[in-house]
Amino acid sequence: MNRIFFALIIALVFVGSVHGLEPPNFEQKSLRPEQWQTLTLPADSIHSYDVRFYRLDLNLPMTSGAMTAHELVSLTSRVANLDTFSLNMNSLVCDSVKRGPTSLSFTTPTGWLTITLNSPLSNGDSTDLDIFYHRNSGTGNRGFYWFSRGSNGVANLAYSMTEPSDSRYWFPCWDQPGDKTERGCQINITVPDTFLACTNGLLDSVTTASGTKTFWWTHHYPISAYLMNFAASRYCTWSHHFVRAPGDTVEIKYYIWPVDSTLSVSAFQNVVDMMTFFSRPDIYGPYPFEKYGMVAVTPFGGGMEHQTMTTIDRSWLGGTDWGISHEMAHMWWGDMVTCYTWPNIWLNEGFATYSEALYMEHQQGHAYFINELNTYANDYFNEDAGQRFPMYNPPPNQLFAWGTIYCKGAWVQHMLRYVEHDTSSTHGLFFQALRAYGDTLKYHTASMADYQRIHEHFFGDTLNWFFNEWAVQAGYPQYQVNWYGVSQPPNWRIVVDITQSNGSGAPPVFHMPVEFLFHLNGKDTLVHYPISTSPQHNEFVVSAQPDSLVFDPGFWILKKATITKVGVGVAEKGDQPLALALYPGTPNPFHQTTGIGFLLPRNGWASLAVYDVSGKRVRRLWEGDTKAGRHQMIWDGRSDLGQDLPSGVYFYRLEVGAQNLIRKAVKIR
Ligand SMILES: [Zn+2]
Repeated sequence: MNRIFFALIIALVFVGSVHGLEPPNFEQKSLRPEQWQTLTLPADSIHSYDVRFYRLDLNLPMTSGAMTAHELVSLTSRVANLDTFSLNMNSLVCDSVKRGPTSLSFTTPTGWLTITLNSPLSNGDSTDLDIFYHRNSGTGNRGFYWFSRGSNGVANLAYSMTEPSDSRYWFPCWDQPGDKTERGCQINITVPDTFLACTNGLLDSVTTASGTKTFWWTHHYPISAYLMNFAASRYCTWSHHFVRAPGDTVEIKYYIWPVDSTLSVSAFQNVVDMMTFFSRPDIYGPYPFEKYGMVAVTPFGGGMEHQTMTTIDRSWLGGTDWGISHEMAHMWWGDMVTCYTWPNIWLNEGFATYSEALYMEHQQGHAYFINELNTYANDYFNEDAGQRFPMYNPPPNQLFAWGTIYCKGAWVQHMLRYVEHDTSSTHGLFFQALRAYGDTLKYHTASMADYQRIHEHFFGDTLNWFFNEWAVQAGYPQYQVNWYGVSQPPNWRIVVDITQSNGSGAPPVFHMPVEFLFHLNGKDTLVHYPISTSPQHNEFVVSAQPDSLVFDPGFWILKKATITKVGVGVAEKGDQPLALALYPGTPNPFHQTTGIGFLLPRNGWASLAVYDVSGKRVRRLWEGDTKAGRHQMIWDGRSDLGQDLPSGVYFYRLEVGAQNLIRKAVKIR
């Protein structure tokens, strides 16, 4: 099908903004957030209840990894006659369970604490249970981590780190993201009085008793188990303050070791600026919680967006605005709105990773933003080359795959913005829809279907194709763009053929609209048009001779593209083809056969032959009088004598009169 989009040809006013897109070398990040864990999803029982609140009283001796604890859990039955139910629990010892004054019987099958109620709950009835439990010294580090000063070189340290499903290693809980506690959580931590302890929410008070201190923390917002945390060590603390609105100040509280205090001042120098940026009415809107904070631990290796108290590796104090901005953005995307199930994890990580790039654009400018996206693209391509899988519902052991979940996730946000025509620096429809998604699902959980539905509402059209091609299916478009221009006085006609070869697991056609920037004899022209098939033939009429073509000049599509000027311009009249063209082989490189197309502008003698790198002709594919038009030849990788030629580089040469065109091909046996 031919499509000619005269009306869409728009002269660019600010040509400079799309020039110079080749990014300079980008300093590769040596450390990526949250690459610390692979995962096997547990087979969970039917969720017969809704957790409403956790209160934890933790007593940490800080001389070993031991802990004694009391948990109060409030829950509501979601079934008729709930008489037995289970909480996830691992590597902890339950001592007793009480409902008011009554002791309840319980069992501890592997991975679970199963409790039998003294009287069953009707659907919708609630109850509070007290669970007394402890963790033995010498229990292995998982979920709950213990390091002595001798092992980490700084100070005795206990902390939790649980995403996705290791909260069960420090308190009995429903260890899936989809059930938030409606009434938040309260965590009280008792430690020797030379230690400080921090966790989610606000520090209400500190009490002292015979050589110990208890830190009383309360968090008033719904929270999933994996976003709850604690850390205790010989910390010192200091704060920034962010003015959210007149009379409404958010404390940003840091817990670091005294030896790192000077370093922390420079490491955290942009934190208020980050919160100011993300809170802007045209970006994500107001910061959603009562406090923010960060606590440094070691060893760890990354960052984790615990709700209102991000945990970071101590090494981040050396300065990493990208990591710190990533974790802060999670307060909106991951914490305020949490992925309903782990297959939706890109709604957390893709958003936070795109936020890094947005903040860097704010801080360092648009070229830096493009560099960051370019790095994401290459990291994704490299990972995809090793193992290809979809971003939505990835294999469980790929839940935190940097390339596919984080980098492609960021790109999908970027491309959705492009599809919704929100491409200027004054943020528009995409950010409006994103804020509506935040407002609608604030303090709840979300699936990709929720995100799609809200974007469709704002966009006014289906986006099913977009989420299906980019999230449910794997891969990315690999375009071969062949083009030439011919004189058609007083104008020029540009012919562009686009073929996609996207590989297995990927959609054969990504229906992304594409943009071309034609450099025309001093005047540049931007063309925007939809892609509906592959191969797709397109023709455009422009006012001057085209010198070159830039595909996707604004860097809006996650893709690989090879651009080839296939023809030499010939002035012609009538309906005959207007140029001599030799197209690159498809596929190329090839194993057994490859197709070679050429175009003749008029009847006449032509020859097409294959040469090896020494210049010796190895195969004559066509020679003789030839009609004007398109011709397609197949080369089977053999010589004129039928020999299977060795792997290597070959050249096709098309000769027509005094003109000739040459293309390279690579044979792989
Ligand atoms: Zn993250």
